[in-house]
Amino acid sequence: MIAWSKDDERLREGIGQWFGKFGEDFSRYDREAAFPREPWLAVMESGLLRLPFDEKWGGLGQSLLTTMYVLEELGRGCPDSAVNFAITTHMVSTGIALQRFGSTALKDTYLPRISAGTAIGAHAVTEPDSGSDALGMRTTATADGDCYRLSGSKAFVGNGPVADLVVVYAKTEPPAGPLGVTAFLVERDTPGLTFGSPTGRTGPKSPPLCSLFLDDCRVPKTHILGRVGAGSLVLDHVLTWETLCCFIVSTGEMRRRLDRCVEYAGEGSAFGRPSGGFHAVAHRIVDMKIGLETSRKWLYDTAEKFTAGRKVTADLAIAQFVAGRAALDSALAEYGLEQELRGALAVTIHSGTTETQYSRIAATLGLGRAA
Ligand SMILES: Cc1cc2nc3c(=O)[nH]c(=O)nc-3n(C[C@H](O)[C@H](O)[C@H](O)COP(=O)(O)OP(=O)(O)OC[C@H]3O[C@@H](n4cnc5c(N)ncnc54)[C@H](O)[C@@H]3O)c2cc1C
Repeated sequence: MIAWSKDDERLREGIGQWFGKFGEDFSRYDREAAFPREPWLAVMESGLLRLPFDEKWGGLGQSLLTTMYVLEELGRGCPDSAVNFAITTHMVSTGIALQRFGSTALKDTYLPRISAGTAIGAHAVTEPDSGSDALGMRTTATADGDCYRLSGSKAFVGNGPVADLVVVYAKTEPPAGPLGVTAFLVERDTPGLTFGSPTGRTGPKSPPLCSLFLDDCRVPKTHILGRVGAGSLVLDHVLTWETLCCFIVSTGEMRRRLDRCVEYAGEGSAFGRPSGGFHAVAHRIVDMKIGLETSRKWLYDTAEKFTAGRKVTADLAIAQFVAGRAALDSALAEYGLEQELRGALAVTIHSGTTETQYSRIAATLGLGRAA
């Protein structure tokens, strides 16, 4: 396992002091299915959003691994999985895509606001008829002078109801299949872009997701991330970061549940002794510990391999599968079950469902086609 440096530990401890504040009043936001505006101000002030971005755009210039190390603590310290989800979606969907694939002009304009959190980011991949089969999307982008005209609709856009910037994936060359997808950075108030009402979904009710509609929406060619037709590369990079960052937060949440269960089992009295003295209870808690440590190991090992430039298709699918299952199991053991379980269920759907990981792993074994 990685040996963290003193600087990493200090960074995690410093930013970590804010995490309890992010989760204040989380039941209210969940009940009202509202974006947690006040906690977001604390998130901005903490500097957490700046972690993976270059210093010249207001970031802290930290690596993926150090970013994950701090995000793991976020999951432990902030009881609101909805705020945690809003943070990782914002940071990765827009910021990482922009930092890795945007032109210098685009980065100069938008990255300082993403890094500070004053502009909220989202990405629109899923459509009513293409979720797991994301590259089967039907939204089109047609060249027109110095712009592209985008038309189509998207579903389940995380942070959508409040997003200032959205990375929209559309087909610039539909017959080319996955090679015909391009990623565009689109501002909220661009004519032709409208947002649907906040929608319910599996998972925490806050922050809500929404649909978005593109009706001949003109986006400058300068707002393309990467090359025309290279949207699947952008998406692949973003989903790798998203999986690693979201799931490491989820392991932090598992640790919080584990700590509470250990404490309760050590103190609670059942038949005149602490419930942790019964094998059935102790074994359940040990299962939580095994699930947590296995998930952490897969996630950090995969991140190290990815950072070294190695192929991680199977590793990522296994990490996602293991961590998704472990999150659900650990949520079933916890007090406050309903809210925890909704958070854990969401983990098994976004960034690719747990079931589709079977198809990905099977494909790496030469068994059938990748999902
Ligand atoms: C909390 C949350 C946040 C989200 N945020 C975003 C966002 O910010 N942006 C965005 O674009 N989307 C977002 N999504 C959408 C998410 O990416 C999709 O819901 C997900 O990819 C599954 O797509 P689907 O819902 O259309 O299900 P479908 O693809 O229709 O799948 C239906 C069922 O079939 C199974 N299935 C499908 N294909 C296979 C296969 N090859 N092998 C085995 N089983 C398969 C699935 O596991 C599932 O059980 C979010 C979803 C949730 C729950």
